[in-house]
Amino acid sequence: MIVNMQAGATDEQIEHVIERVKECGYQAHVIRGAERTVIGCVGSGGRRTELEALVAAPGVEALVPISHPFKLVSRQLQPKPSEIVVRGVCIGGSRPVVIAGPCSVESREQILETARGVRAAGADMLRGGAYKPRTSPYDFQGLGEEALRLLVEAREETGLPIVTEVMSTEDVDAVSEAADILQVGARNMQNFPLLRRLARASRPILLKRGPSATVKEWLLAAEYLLDGGNPNVILCERGIKTFETELRNTFDIAAIALAKELTHLPVVADPSHGTGRRSLIPAMSRAALAAGADGLLIEVHPCPERALSDGPQSMDLAGFAQMMAQLRPASEAAAARV
Ligand code: PEP
Ligand code: MN
Repeated sequence: MIVNMQAGATDEQIEHVIERVKECGYQAHVIRGAERTVIGCVGSGGRRTELEALVAAPGVEALVPISHPFKLVSRQLQPKPSEIVVRGVCIGGSRPVVIAGPCSVESREQILETARGVRAAGADMLRGGAYKPRTSPYDFQGLGEEALRLLVEAREETGLPIVTEVMSTEDVDAVSEAADILQVGARNMQNFPLLRRLARASRPILLKRGPSATVKEWLLAAEYLLDGGNPNVILCERGIKTFETELRNTFDIAAIALAKELTHLPVVADPSHGTGRRSLIPAMSRAALAAGADGLLIEVHPCPERALSDGPQSMDLAGFAQMMAQLRPASEAAAARV
């Protein structure tokens, strides 16, 4: 339920409503807009009839039920898009951001060369996996803590903020110390203990959509993070499993537009995992930006043929630089639309 306060509601009236919401057994999430305050009442086991009586409280304009199962992420509760600022880079603002880097951090030379190259091409952030969720236990599993140290070194040299995946609750502290944004991989989208732990983390979360998750399940996974206290969540569409076999995944561009319609959270697009094919990435990047994506996550490797993971979908530095130059009009058009 949303309590819409009147435009002229006083602080005292707002405080009173918050108190009553809590007394009725709900949590009160207060969103103070430029004109008016709204209070989201969420939680299970509250006394709804008592809550509904608040329509008679001073300063209250109306009570509106939230029609979706996800509440705190919904646009109904917060019509204004959320902006997340990380080391001066704004995600969800007027300009799309580009997060680029290798699938995995493989060596000092590899990550530093990539960081310099993607920065020169205009990327805003550096990605690189330290802990890798691999389908086979025999595949490269990531360099772990050493990779975190190398990412920090790359940030120190280039100034690019770092995005890297955290796979387990045990690693949250170490990864938070090094990284600026913590990625939840597609396979972990519904790892509820991890989501609950990350809700208490000090960093923004980039939440990938599960390979077989509906948009509703994806947004409910994000709801866990907000409900547990972390409002800084970025959604990432990375393709889903369908009957199509020519591509690694089916890149669901409609889900980008839908997520933007249903939520106030920023949405970025990952056409690298979304297609699995380097040649399709420029076209799918333009499509994602046209659909309203707030940014792109692109895999880039200085020598894709030697990559220890995801080589076929990784762009080389020259290809990435060329795409960035070609994307400029799409990016400017997206900025002008906002
Ligand atoms: C990745 O970003 O390299 C990755 C493993 O992504 P996903 O979880 O989307 O498969
Ligand atoms: Mn990858």
